[in-house]
Amino acid sequence: MQYHSTRDNSISVTSAQAIKQGLSSEGGLFVPEQFPSVTLDEIESLSSKSYHERAYFVLNRFLTDFSEEDLKKCITSAYTKEKFGTEAIAPVYKLNDEVYFLELWHGPTCAFKDMALQILPHFLTTSMKMTNEDKEIIILVATSGDTGKAALEGFKDVDGTRIIVFYPDNGVSEIQKLQMVTQRGNNVSVAAVKGNFDDAQSGVKRIFTDEDYKELLDRNGFKLSSANSINWGRLVPQIVYYFSAYADLLASKEIEIGDEINVVVPTGNFGNILAAYYAKKMGLPIKKFICASNANNVLTDFIKTGKYNKNREFHTTISPSMDILISSNLERFLYDLSGNDDAVITDLMNQLNTNGEYVVPDAIMAKMQELFDADCCNDKETMASIRKTYDEYGYTMDTHTAVGKNVYDKYVERTGDKTKTVIASTASPFKFNQNVLIALEDCNAVVGKDEFELLEMLSKKSGLKVPESLAELKDKTPIFNTVVDKDLMKNTVSDFLKVE
Ligand SMILES: *Cc1c(COP(=O)(O)O)cnc(C)c1O
Repeated sequence: MQYHSTRDNSISVTSAQAIKQGLSSEGGLFVPEQFPSVTLDEIESLSSKSYHERAYFVLNRFLTDFSEEDLKKCITSAYTKEKFGTEAIAPVYKLNDEVYFLELWHGPTCAFKDMALQILPHFLTTSMKMTNEDKEIIILVATSGDTGKAALEGFKDVDGTRIIVFYPDNGVSEIQKLQMVTQRGNNVSVAAVKGNFDDAQSGVKRIFTDEDYKELLDRNGFKLSSANSINWGRLVPQIVYYFSAYADLLASKEIEIGDEINVVVPTGNFGNILAAYYAKKMGLPIKKFICASNANNVLTDFIKTGKYNKNREFHTTISPSMDILISSNLERFLYDLSGNDDAVITDLMNQLNTNGEYVVPDAIMAKMQELFDADCCNDKETMASIRKTYDEYGYTMDTHTAVGKNVYDKYVERTGDKTKTVIASTASPFKFNQNVLIALEDCNAVVGKDEFELLEMLSKKSGLKVPESLAELKDKTPIFNTVVDKDLMKNTVSDFLKVE
Protein backbone atom coordinates (compact mmCIF):
# COMPACT_ATOMS: atom_id res chain seq x y z
CA MET A 1 0.00 0.00 0.00
CA GLN A 2 1.21 3.47 -0.89
CA TYR A 3 0.57 6.75 0.93
CA HIS A 4 -0.47 10.08 -0.60
CA SER A 5 -0.24 13.59 0.79
CA THR A 6 -3.50 15.37 1.66
CA ARG A 7 -2.21 18.44 -0.20
CA ASP A 8 -0.75 16.69 -3.25
CA ASN A 9 -1.99 13.24 -4.08
CA SER A 10 0.49 12.78 -6.89
CA ILE A 11 2.99 12.13 -4.09
CA SER A 12 3.23 8.43 -3.41
CA VAL A 13 5.46 6.86 -0.75
CA THR A 14 5.69 3.58 1.15
CA SER A 15 4.62 3.39 4.78
CA ALA A 16 8.28 3.23 5.85
CA GLN A 17 8.97 6.50 4.00
CA ALA A 18 5.83 8.12 5.40
CA ILE A 19 6.80 7.19 8.96
CA LYS A 20 10.42 8.27 8.51
CA GLN A 21 9.43 11.60 6.98
CA GLY A 22 6.53 12.44 9.32
CA LEU A 23 5.15 15.35 7.31
CA SER A 24 5.02 15.63 3.52
CA SER A 25 7.40 18.26 2.09
CA GLU A 26 4.63 20.66 0.98
CA GLY A 27 3.01 20.50 4.44
CA GLY A 28 0.36 17.84 3.85
CA LEU A 29 -0.24 14.73 5.95
CA PHE A 30 0.28 11.18 4.71
CA VAL A 31 -2.86 9.09 4.21
CA PRO A 32 -3.30 5.56 2.83
CA GLU A 33 -4.26 5.49 -0.86
CA GLN A 34 -7.26 3.34 0.04
CA PHE A 35 -8.71 1.65 3.10
CA PRO A 36 -8.38 -2.10 3.39
CA SER A 37 -11.72 -3.76 4.07
CA VAL A 38 -12.31 -6.54 6.56
CA THR A 39 -15.28 -8.89 6.78
CA LEU A 40 -17.57 -9.52 9.73
CA ASP A 41 -16.27 -13.10 9.85
CA GLU A 42 -12.76 -11.77 10.28
CA ILE A 43 -13.89 -9.36 12.98
CA GLU A 44 -15.70 -12.18 14.77
CA SER A 45 -12.55 -14.28 14.73
CA LEU A 46 -10.73 -11.51 16.64
CA SER A 47 -12.84 -12.15 19.72
CA SER A 48 -10.74 -15.16 20.72
CA LYS A 49 -7.44 -13.47 19.87
CA SER A 50 -4.85 -11.63 21.98
CA TYR A 51 -4.14 -7.91 21.69
CA HIS A 52 -0.94 -8.77 19.80
CA GLU A 53 -2.87 -10.79 17.25
CA ARG A 54 -5.52 -8.11 16.87
CA ALA A 55 -2.77 -5.52 16.36
CA TYR A 56 -1.13 -7.63 13.69
CA PHE A 57 -4.49 -8.12 11.96
CA VAL A 58 -4.96 -4.33 11.58
CA LEU A 59 -1.37 -3.09 11.17
CA ASN A 60 -0.42 -5.69 8.57
CA ARG A 61 -3.08 -4.28 6.25
CA PHE A 62 -1.56 -0.79 6.36
CA LEU A 63 2.18 -1.38 6.77
CA THR A 64 2.34 -3.73 3.81
CA ASP A 65 6.04 -3.06 3.17
CA PHE A 66 7.00 -4.34 6.68
CA SER A 67 7.95 -8.01 6.82
CA GLU A 68 5.82 -10.25 9.03
CA GLU A 69 8.78 -10.80 11.30
CA ASP A 70 9.58 -7.08 11.66
CA LEU A 71 5.98 -6.09 12.30
CA LYS A 72 5.45 -8.79 14.91
CA LYS A 73 8.64 -7.70 16.62
CA CYS A 74 7.38 -4.09 16.78
CA ILE A 75 4.11 -5.28 18.34
CA THR A 76 5.59 -7.62 20.93
CA SER A 77 8.25 -5.08 21.96
CA ALA A 78 5.67 -2.33 22.45
CA TYR A 79 2.70 -3.99 24.12
CA THR A 80 4.04 -6.03 27.00
CA LYS A 81 2.22 -7.08 30.14
CA GLU A 82 5.17 -5.69 32.06
CA LYS A 83 4.61 -2.17 30.70
CA PHE A 84 0.80 -2.22 30.61
CA GLY A 85 0.14 -4.22 33.74
CA THR A 86 -2.49 -6.29 31.92
CA GLU A 87 -2.49 -8.86 29.13
CA ALA A 88 -5.53 -7.08 27.69
CA ILE A 89 -3.39 -3.93 27.05
CA ALA A 90 -6.57 -1.86 26.44
CA PRO A 91 -9.31 -3.46 28.59
CA VAL A 92 -13.01 -2.64 28.33
CA TYR A 93 -14.85 -1.79 31.56
CA LYS A 94 -18.61 -2.31 31.63
CA LEU A 95 -20.42 0.52 33.42
CA ASN A 96 -23.95 -0.71 32.62
CA ASP A 97 -25.80 -2.36 29.73
CA GLU A 98 -25.29 0.67 27.49
CA VAL A 99 -21.95 2.20 28.45
CA TYR A 100 -18.45 0.72 28.26
CA PHE A 101 -15.16 2.45 28.94
CA LEU A 102 -12.23 1.55 26.70
CA GLU A 103 -9.35 2.09 29.13
CA LEU A 104 -6.39 3.34 27.13
CA TRP A 105 -4.24 4.39 30.09
CA HIS A 106 -2.68 1.22 31.44
CA GLY A 107 0.68 2.03 29.82
CA PRO A 108 3.82 3.33 31.56
CA THR A 109 2.81 7.01 31.73
CA CYS A 110 -0.87 6.48 32.64
CA ALA A 111 -2.32 8.27 29.59
CA PHE A 112 -3.49 7.09 26.18
CA LYS A 113 -0.50 8.57 24.33
CA ASP A 114 1.36 5.40 25.36
CA MET A 115 -0.79 3.34 22.98
CA ALA A 116 0.96 5.03 20.05
CA LEU A 117 4.26 6.18 21.54
CA GLN A 118 5.23 2.73 22.79
CA ILE A 119 5.21 1.37 19.25
CA LEU A 120 6.28 4.42 17.20
CA PRO A 121 10.00 4.08 18.07
CA HIS A 122 9.97 0.50 16.76
CA PHE A 123 8.17 1.58 13.58
CA LEU A 124 10.74 4.33 13.12
CA THR A 125 13.85 2.21 13.56
CA THR A 126 12.37 -0.47 11.29
CA SER A 127 11.53 2.19 8.68
CA MET A 128 15.08 3.59 8.86
CA LYS A 129 16.48 0.13 8.28
CA MET A 130 14.09 -0.52 5.39
CA THR A 131 15.01 2.73 3.66
CA ASN A 132 18.75 2.13 4.15
CA GLU A 133 19.11 5.15 6.39
CA ASP A 134 22.25 4.62 8.44
CA LYS A 135 22.04 7.71 10.64
CA GLU A 136 21.11 7.67 14.28
CA ILE A 137 17.67 9.26 14.83
CA ILE A 138 17.50 12.21 17.20
CA ILE A 139 14.00 12.88 18.48
CA LEU A 140 13.39 16.44 19.63
CA VAL A 141 10.22 17.08 21.63
CA ALA A 142 8.74 20.23 23.12
CA THR A 143 6.08 19.20 25.60
CA SER A 144 3.36 20.77 27.68
CA GLY A 145 3.42 17.67 29.86
CA ASP A 146 2.02 14.33 28.73
CA THR A 147 3.64 13.81 25.35
CA GLY A 148 7.20 14.38 26.57
CA LYS A 149 7.03 11.68 29.19
CA ALA A 150 5.25 9.24 26.88
CA ALA A 151 7.90 9.83 24.20
CA LEU A 152 10.73 9.36 26.75
CA GLU A 153 9.26 6.05 27.88
CA GLY A 154 8.73 4.94 24.29
CA PHE A 155 12.21 5.79 23.02
CA LYS A 156 14.30 4.96 26.09
CA ASP A 157 16.95 2.32 25.33
CA VAL A 158 15.68 1.84 21.75
CA ASP A 159 18.81 1.18 19.67
CA GLY A 160 19.57 3.68 16.92
CA THR A 161 17.65 6.51 18.59
CA ARG A 162 18.23 9.26 21.12
CA ILE A 163 15.64 11.61 22.54
CA ILE A 164 15.80 15.12 23.99
CA VAL A 165 12.73 16.61 25.67
CA PHE A 166 12.29 20.31 26.43
CA TYR A 167 9.60 21.36 28.87
CA PRO A 168 8.64 24.89 29.97
CA ASP A 169 10.20 25.79 33.28
CA ASN A 170 6.93 27.01 34.69
CA GLY A 171 4.35 25.23 32.61
CA VAL A 172 3.98 21.62 33.72
CA SER A 173 2.51 20.07 36.85
CA GLU A 174 4.74 18.89 39.70
CA ILE A 175 4.10 15.23 38.92
CA GLN A 176 4.74 15.73 35.21
CA LYS A 177 8.03 17.44 35.98
CA LEU A 178 9.02 14.66 38.37
CA GLN A 179 8.14 12.05 35.76
CA MET A 180 10.53 13.69 33.30
CA VAL A 181 13.52 14.75 35.42
CA THR A 182 13.80 11.27 36.93
CA GLN A 183 13.68 9.54 33.54
CA ARG A 184 16.09 6.59 33.22
CA GLY A 185 17.55 5.24 29.97
CA ASN A 186 20.90 5.31 28.16
CA ASN A 187 19.77 7.55 25.27
CA VAL A 188 17.60 10.20 26.94
CA SER A 189 18.02 13.84 27.92
CA VAL A 190 15.63 16.34 29.49
CA ALA A 191 15.95 20.09 29.90
CA ALA A 192 13.76 22.87 31.21
CA VAL A 193 13.39 25.98 29.06
CA LYS A 194 13.04 29.41 30.66
CA GLY A 195 9.60 30.44 29.47
CA ASN A 196 6.27 28.89 28.52
CA PHE A 197 5.27 26.08 26.17
CA ASP A 198 5.33 28.36 23.13
CA ASP A 199 8.94 29.31 23.88
CA ALA A 200 9.94 25.65 24.09
CA GLN A 201 8.04 24.80 20.92
CA SER A 202 9.41 27.72 18.90
CA GLY A 203 12.92 26.79 20.04
CA VAL A 204 12.50 23.23 18.79
CA LYS A 205 11.01 24.48 15.51
CA ARG A 206 14.01 26.79 15.02
CA ILE A 207 16.38 23.84 15.38
CA PHE A 208 14.33 21.82 12.88
CA THR A 209 14.56 24.58 10.26
CA ASP A 210 18.23 25.45 10.81
CA GLU A 211 19.80 23.99 7.64
CA ASP A 212 23.41 24.65 8.69
CA TYR A 213 22.85 22.91 11.97
CA LYS A 214 21.16 19.94 10.32
CA GLU A 215 24.16 19.61 8.03
CA LEU A 216 26.48 19.60 11.01
CA LEU A 217 24.41 16.84 12.60
CA ASP A 218 24.36 14.96 9.32
CA ARG A 219 28.18 15.01 9.13
CA ASN A 220 28.22 13.52 12.60
CA GLY A 221 25.84 10.71 11.69
CA PHE A 222 22.63 12.14 13.16
CA LYS A 223 19.22 12.79 11.65
CA LEU A 224 16.55 14.89 13.38
CA SER A 225 13.01 13.56 13.67
CA SER A 226 9.89 14.29 15.69
CA ALA A 227 7.38 12.14 17.54
CA ASN A 228 4.61 14.49 16.49
CA SER A 229 0.98 13.33 16.54
CA ILE A 230 0.59 13.87 12.79
CA ASN A 231 3.01 11.03 12.02
CA TRP A 232 1.19 8.10 10.39
CA GLY A 233 3.11 5.83 12.78
CA ARG A 234 1.25 7.41 15.68
CA LEU A 235 -2.18 7.24 14.11
CA VAL A 236 -2.25 3.70 12.77
CA PRO A 237 -1.77 1.93 16.15
CA GLN A 238 -4.84 3.76 17.41
CA ILE A 239 -7.11 2.00 14.91
CA VAL A 240 -6.26 -1.31 16.59
CA TYR A 241 -7.97 -0.69 19.91
CA TYR A 242 -11.37 0.05 18.39
CA PHE A 243 -11.30 -3.40 16.78
CA SER A 244 -10.08 -4.80 20.07
CA ALA A 245 -12.93 -3.18 22.02
CA TYR A 246 -15.52 -4.55 19.58
CA ALA A 247 -13.92 -8.00 19.81
CA ASP A 248 -14.07 -7.82 23.62
CA LEU A 249 -17.78 -6.91 23.52
CA LEU A 250 -18.35 -9.92 21.25
CA ALA A 251 -16.37 -12.20 23.54
CA SER A 252 -18.38 -11.13 26.59
CA LYS A 253 -21.65 -11.49 24.61
CA GLU A 254 -22.57 -7.85 25.14
CA ILE A 255 -23.15 -7.57 21.39
CA GLU A 256 -23.58 -9.90 18.44
CA ILE A 257 -21.48 -9.75 15.32
CA GLY A 258 -22.71 -6.97 13.04
CA ASP A 259 -24.36 -4.95 15.84
CA GLU A 260 -23.57 -1.27 15.52
CA ILE A 261 -22.03 0.61 18.43
CA ASN A 262 -21.49 4.32 19.10
CA VAL A 263 -18.11 5.73 20.03
CA VAL A 264 -17.45 8.78 22.23
CA VAL A 265 -13.98 10.34 22.19
CA PRO A 266 -12.65 13.19 24.38
CA THR A 267 -10.90 15.10 21.64
CA GLY A 268 -8.01 17.54 21.19
CA ASN A 269 -5.93 17.02 18.08
CA PHE A 270 -8.58 14.76 16.47
CA GLY A 271 -6.21 11.78 16.23
CA ASN A 272 -8.05 9.36 18.48
CA ILE A 273 -11.51 9.92 16.99
CA LEU A 274 -10.07 9.83 13.45
CA ALA A 275 -8.67 6.36 14.20
CA ALA A 276 -12.21 5.24 15.12
CA TYR A 277 -13.51 6.67 11.85
CA TYR A 278 -10.80 4.80 9.93
CA ALA A 279 -11.87 1.60 11.73
CA LYS A 280 -15.39 2.12 10.43
CA LYS A 281 -14.08 2.70 6.91
CA MET A 282 -12.46 -0.72 7.15
CA GLY A 283 -15.78 -2.29 8.11
CA LEU A 284 -16.09 -2.06 11.91
CA PRO A 285 -19.82 -1.55 12.67
CA ILE A 286 -19.89 1.93 14.21
CA LYS A 287 -23.00 4.09 13.92
CA LYS A 288 -22.17 7.46 15.46
CA PHE A 289 -18.98 9.23 16.43
CA ILE A 290 -19.50 11.63 19.30
CA CYS A 291 -16.77 14.24 19.51
CA ALA A 292 -16.41 15.61 23.06
CA SER A 293 -14.60 18.88 23.83
CA ASN A 294 -13.92 20.97 26.90
CA ALA A 295 -14.36 24.78 26.95
CA ASN A 296 -12.04 24.93 23.93
CA ASN A 297 -14.99 23.93 21.79
CA VAL A 298 -13.76 24.82 18.32
CA LEU A 299 -14.64 21.30 17.07
CA THR A 300 -18.15 21.38 18.53
CA ASP A 301 -18.88 24.55 16.59
CA PHE A 302 -17.24 23.15 13.48
CA ILE A 303 -19.20 19.90 13.43
CA LYS A 304 -22.45 21.75 14.09
CA THR A 305 -21.96 24.57 11.55
CA GLY A 306 -19.25 23.60 9.05
CA LYS A 307 -17.25 26.69 9.99
CA TYR A 308 -13.86 26.22 11.63
CA ASN A 309 -12.75 29.29 13.51
CA LYS A 310 -9.69 29.29 15.73
CA ASN A 311 -9.92 33.02 16.40
CA ARG A 312 -11.28 32.71 19.91
CA GLU A 313 -10.17 32.85 23.50
CA PHE A 314 -7.92 30.02 24.68
CA HIS A 315 -9.14 28.42 27.92
CA THR A 316 -6.88 26.68 30.41
CA THR A 317 -9.01 23.82 31.74
CA ILE A 318 -8.80 20.85 34.10
CA SER A 319 -8.54 18.58 31.03
CA PRO A 320 -5.34 20.23 29.71
CA SER A 321 -4.49 17.60 27.09
CA MET A 322 -7.55 18.80 25.17
CA ASP A 323 -6.72 22.51 25.39
CA ILE A 324 -6.18 22.88 21.65
CA LEU A 325 -7.42 25.37 19.05
CA ILE A 326 -5.93 23.78 15.94
CA SER A 327 -6.77 20.10 15.58
CA SER A 328 -4.15 19.03 13.07
CA ASN A 329 -5.54 15.58 12.29
CA LEU A 330 -8.82 17.10 11.13
CA GLU A 331 -7.04 17.63 7.79
CA ARG A 332 -6.99 13.87 7.17
CA PHE A 333 -10.72 13.60 7.93
CA LEU A 334 -11.65 16.42 5.56
CA TYR A 335 -9.47 14.93 2.85
CA ASP A 336 -11.46 11.72 3.11
CA LEU A 337 -14.84 13.47 3.18
CA SER A 338 -13.89 15.54 0.13
CA GLY A 339 -13.31 12.33 -1.87
CA ASN A 340 -9.51 12.78 -1.68
CA ASP A 341 -9.59 16.26 -3.22
CA ASP A 342 -6.13 17.70 -2.54
CA ALA A 343 -6.99 21.07 -4.12
CA VAL A 344 -9.92 21.62 -1.74
CA ILE A 345 -7.78 20.66 1.28
CA THR A 346 -4.88 22.91 0.22
CA ASP A 347 -7.31 25.78 -0.13
CA LEU A 348 -8.95 25.20 3.29
CA MET A 349 -5.59 24.88 5.06
CA ASN A 350 -4.30 28.05 3.40
CA GLN A 351 -7.38 29.88 4.65
CA LEU A 352 -6.76 28.53 8.16
CA ASN A 353 -3.17 29.77 7.96
CA THR A 354 -3.98 33.26 6.76
CA ASN A 355 -7.38 34.00 8.35
CA GLY A 356 -7.61 31.41 11.11
CA GLU A 357 -10.90 30.16 9.72
CA TYR A 358 -12.61 28.34 6.86
CA VAL A 359 -16.03 27.03 5.85
CA VAL A 360 -16.28 23.57 4.29
CA PRO A 361 -18.34 22.94 1.13
CA ASP A 362 -21.92 21.74 1.71
CA ALA A 363 -21.21 18.21 0.49
CA ILE A 364 -18.49 17.76 3.12
CA MET A 365 -20.70 19.19 5.82
CA ALA A 366 -23.58 16.83 4.94
CA LYS A 367 -21.33 13.76 5.12
CA MET A 368 -19.79 14.91 8.38
CA GLN A 369 -23.12 15.49 10.09
CA GLU A 370 -24.47 12.13 8.99
CA LEU A 371 -21.85 10.35 11.08
CA PHE A 372 -20.64 12.82 13.66
CA ASP A 373 -22.24 14.41 16.66
CA ALA A 374 -20.43 16.90 18.89
CA ASP A 375 -20.80 18.71 22.16
CA CYS A 376 -18.71 20.29 24.90
CA CYS A 377 -18.73 20.96 28.63
CA ASN A 378 -17.05 23.31 31.05
CA ASP A 379 -14.95 22.43 34.12
CA LYS A 380 -17.89 22.55 36.48
CA GLU A 381 -19.84 20.05 34.39
CA THR A 382 -16.74 17.86 34.12
CA MET A 383 -16.42 17.77 37.91
CA ALA A 384 -20.12 17.00 38.30
CA SER A 385 -19.82 14.04 35.92
CA ILE A 386 -16.89 12.59 37.88
CA ARG A 387 -18.96 12.80 41.05
CA LYS A 388 -22.17 11.45 39.54
CA THR A 389 -20.51 8.44 37.89
CA TYR A 390 -18.71 7.65 41.14
CA ASP A 391 -21.86 7.97 43.23
CA GLU A 392 -23.95 5.85 40.86
CA TYR A 393 -21.45 3.17 39.89
CA GLY A 394 -18.34 3.52 42.07
CA TYR A 395 -16.28 4.10 38.91
CA THR A 396 -13.61 6.81 39.06
CA MET A 397 -12.90 8.75 35.86
CA ASP A 398 -10.14 11.24 35.13
CA THR A 399 -11.04 14.74 33.94
CA HIS A 400 -10.65 14.00 30.20
CA THR A 401 -12.77 10.86 30.28
CA ALA A 402 -15.34 12.82 32.28
CA VAL A 403 -15.72 15.29 29.41
CA GLY A 404 -16.60 12.30 27.24
CA LYS A 405 -19.13 10.98 29.75
CA ASN A 406 -20.74 14.38 30.22
CA VAL A 407 -21.16 14.86 26.48
CA TYR A 408 -22.47 11.29 26.11
CA ASP A 409 -25.14 11.87 28.77
CA LYS A 410 -26.27 15.05 27.02
CA TYR A 411 -26.34 13.20 23.69
CA VAL A 412 -28.63 10.49 25.06
CA GLU A 413 -30.92 13.06 26.61
CA ARG A 414 -31.11 14.98 23.33
CA THR A 415 -31.54 12.02 20.97
CA GLY A 416 -32.87 9.11 23.02
CA ASP A 417 -30.28 6.95 21.22
CA LYS A 418 -29.70 3.89 23.43
CA THR A 419 -27.17 2.20 21.15
CA LYS A 420 -24.43 0.50 23.13
CA THR A 421 -21.59 2.96 23.43
CA VAL A 422 -17.85 2.78 23.95
CA ILE A 423 -16.35 5.84 25.64
CA ALA A 424 -12.60 6.23 25.15
CA SER A 425 -11.05 6.62 28.61
CA THR A 426 -7.87 8.54 27.94
CA ALA A 427 -6.09 8.97 31.27
CA SER A 428 -5.78 7.33 34.65
CA PRO A 429 -7.58 9.30 37.38
CA PHE A 430 -4.32 9.20 39.36
CA LYS A 431 -2.65 11.38 36.78
CA PHE A 432 -5.10 14.19 37.49
CA ASN A 433 -5.58 13.26 41.14
CA GLN A 434 -6.10 16.75 42.54
CA ASN A 435 -9.14 17.69 40.47
CA VAL A 436 -10.59 14.19 40.71
CA LEU A 437 -10.35 14.37 44.52
CA ILE A 438 -11.92 17.83 44.60
CA ALA A 439 -14.80 16.40 42.55
CA LEU A 440 -15.21 13.41 44.85
CA GLU A 441 -14.72 15.32 48.14
CA ASP A 442 -14.26 19.08 48.11
CA CYS A 443 -11.55 21.73 47.89
CA ASN A 444 -10.58 21.39 51.54
CA ALA A 445 -9.73 17.73 51.11
CA VAL A 446 -6.62 18.50 49.08
CA VAL A 447 -5.31 21.57 50.90
CA GLY A 448 -1.71 21.21 52.07
CA LYS A 449 -1.33 17.67 50.72
CA ASP A 450 1.61 16.71 48.52
CA GLU A 451 1.31 14.62 45.35
CA PHE A 452 1.98 11.34 47.10
CA GLU A 453 -0.56 11.93 49.84
CA LEU A 454 -3.10 12.75 47.14
CA LEU A 455 -2.31 9.50 45.31
CA GLU A 456 -2.91 7.55 48.52
CA MET A 457 -6.14 9.41 49.22
CA LEU A 458 -7.43 8.69 45.73
CA SER A 459 -6.47 5.05 46.05
CA LYS A 460 -8.60 4.73 49.20
CA LYS A 461 -11.50 6.57 47.65
CA SER A 462 -11.49 4.73 44.31
CA GLY A 463 -10.48 1.28 45.51
CA LEU A 464 -7.80 1.27 42.79
CA LYS A 465 -4.09 0.66 43.30
CA VAL A 466 -1.80 3.64 42.78
CA PRO A 467 -0.03 2.95 39.44
CA GLU A 468 3.50 1.82 40.23
CA SER A 469 5.05 4.27 37.79
CA LEU A 470 3.57 7.17 39.79
CA ALA A 471 4.12 5.72 43.28
CA GLU A 472 7.79 5.01 42.66
CA LEU A 473 8.50 8.65 41.73
CA LYS A 474 8.67 9.31 45.46
CA ASP A 475 11.96 7.46 45.83
CA LYS A 476 13.56 8.49 42.57
CA THR A 477 16.30 11.11 42.50
CA PRO A 478 16.10 13.73 39.77
CA ILE A 479 18.88 13.33 37.20
CA PHE A 480 18.22 16.28 34.93
CA ASN A 481 18.52 19.79 36.29
CA THR A 482 19.50 21.77 33.18
CA VAL A 483 17.58 25.00 32.70
CA VAL A 484 18.30 26.70 29.38
CA ASP A 485 17.56 30.03 27.85
CA LYS A 486 15.12 29.64 24.96
CA ASP A 487 17.73 30.96 22.53
CA LEU A 488 20.37 28.46 23.63
CA MET A 489 18.48 25.18 23.21
CA LYS A 490 20.73 24.19 20.33
CA ASN A 491 23.67 24.07 22.77
CA THR A 492 21.82 21.54 24.88
CA VAL A 493 21.41 19.33 21.83
CA SER A 494 25.08 19.74 20.87
CA ASP A 495 26.27 18.96 24.38
CA PHE A 496 24.16 15.82 24.53
CA LEU A 497 25.35 14.62 21.12
CA LYS A 498 28.92 15.85 21.68
CA VAL A 499 29.09 17.74 18.40
CA GLU A 500 30.56 21.19 17.91
C1 LIG B 1 -3.90 13.73 23.88
C2 LIG B 1 -5.05 13.48 24.79
C3 LIG B 1 -6.39 13.64 24.38
C4 LIG B 1 -6.76 14.14 22.99
O1 LIG B 1 -6.54 13.18 21.99
P1 LIG B 1 -6.44 13.64 20.45
O2 LIG B 1 -6.04 12.41 19.72
O3 LIG B 1 -5.38 14.70 20.42
O4 LIG B 1 -7.77 14.13 20.05
C5 LIG B 1 -7.40 13.34 25.27
N1 LIG B 1 -7.12 12.93 26.54
C6 LIG B 1 -5.85 12.77 26.98
C7 LIG B 1 -5.61 12.34 28.38
C8 LIG B 1 -4.77 13.03 26.13
O5 LIG B 1 -3.50 12.87 26.58
